[in-house]
Amino acid sequence: MGEGTGRSGDVGGTEEQRAARRDEAVRAAVEQGLLGPDTPIVGLLDVAGIRESAAALRSAFDAVTPPGTPVLHAFAVKATPLVPVLRLLHEEGVGAEVASPGELALARAAGVPPERTVLDSPAKTPGELREALALGIAVNADNPQELARIDALMAGRTSGSPLGIRVNPQVGGGSIEALSTAAATSKFGVALRDEGAREWVVRAYLDRPWLTRLHAHTGSQGIPLTLMAEGVAETYALAEEINERAGRRQVDTLDIGGGLPVNFSSDETTPTHAEYARALRDAVPGLFDGRYGLVTEFGRSLLAKHGTVVARVEYAKSAGGRPVAVTHAGVQVATRTVYAPGAWPLRIAAYDGKGLPKAGAEVVQDVAGPACFAGDLLATGRALPLLEQGDYAAALDTGAYYFAHHYAYNSLARPGVYGFVTGGPEGVGFATVREPQAVEEIVAEAGGAHVDALTSARREAR
Ligand SMILES: *Cc1c(COP(=O)(O)O)cnc(C)c1O
Repeated sequence: MGEGTGRSGDVGGTEEQRAARRDEAVRAAVEQGLLGPDTPIVGLLDVAGIRESAAALRSAFDAVTPPGTPVLHAFAVKATPLVPVLRLLHEEGVGAEVASPGELALARAAGVPPERTVLDSPAKTPGELREALALGIAVNADNPQELARIDALMAGRTSGSPLGIRVNPQVGGGSIEALSTAAATSKFGVALRDEGAREWVVRAYLDRPWLTRLHAHTGSQGIPLTLMAEGVAETYALAEEINERAGRRQVDTLDIGGGLPVNFSSDETTPTHAEYARALRDAVPGLFDGRYGLVTEFGRSLLAKHGTVVARVEYAKSAGGRPVAVTHAGVQVATRTVYAPGAWPLRIAAYDGKGLPKAGAEVVQDVAGPACFAGDLLATGRALPLLEQGDYAAALDTGAYYFAHHYAYNSLARPGVYGFVTGGPEGVGFATVREPQAVEEIVAEAGGAHVDALTSARREAR
């Protein structure tokens, strides 16, 4: 295998097994007709890999907390908003962090109970807040105006919802500005270092005995672990201050958010949830002495490595001396990579027309998508075995924030998503997670039922 697949010698057994399962799944997808000339793109999810990551997350925090410490791992639904994925994670002991009515509906459809659900969005309407409180879902208020809405809903009532405030510890941003939530001017939470803000937060708790949680999420992808730990340490210090001034353990749970970065350059899982949990314990030992319950909200680190988007090479051509493989995977499934290739490079693996890893000398080439703009490229100037017509190109590590986040440019259809399990008596078994989108659905979603809406409106206005 070439360098482009990142199959280096330093990956551990689990990682090698994961790569081997991926190869098996691509081959089986071609053999079983999930992938072919008429279905030129699919998303594949490694069920065993997802289970492994969920188990590794649980054991990472079990290892640093005293027995009996309440720890809720809530998967950030936005990373992979697919109901069967949420169901699988729920079965693996992982709840849901939701940030919109749609995400809450997905979590409920997956059977995630309210007590394992956390609502965090920055723009909750009064209706959303009312529903969350009626269901008993944990809510983190983003700002003073939102807290005032919760005050109104709580007047003369009690709620089963654990309630908290989201703070921005303003410890600084990471390498990707759009994903840095703890910069001085980030839009999320109460900016703790702004003048008067800390005192406002403390008073808010002292005035409201029902505020028992404190939340911070210091960013995603591109944030170093030390900075994440610093954000958690700041939040812990605030909880201690509130509790001291309250004279009781009012804040009983810290929600430390998610944000563990993912290594997109090889099959190695680094950093691991265990490394992060140990780094947190070392940086903030008081948080792990049993006095506080914990909520985590990991997304990318749970799912990214377990998804692969595989696309057929429709045409192989050459332009300006450079080979270009025109595939069916582009901006519609890898939006961030196409628009911001520097921040979001993806590994590409080459497979032949039978779905077997392609051998052969590496050639510098472009891997293009199907959309009608020149920048629709999955990879540029990449050294890979030469992709030819009828081959397949796989974009690796796309289980989070990629093929589940369809971007409807050119009315390109949402690909089908299938979970796979290897090692069964009949080889690889696939389960439909999401049907491929039919063109009839595209028409319906594009106002197909209202075909005369504008022409008849014009006549009426005359
Ligand atoms: C996006 C988000 C997460 C998950 O971030 P990852 O980088 O995917 O782990 C967790 N909490 C909140 C509040 C978020 O906005």
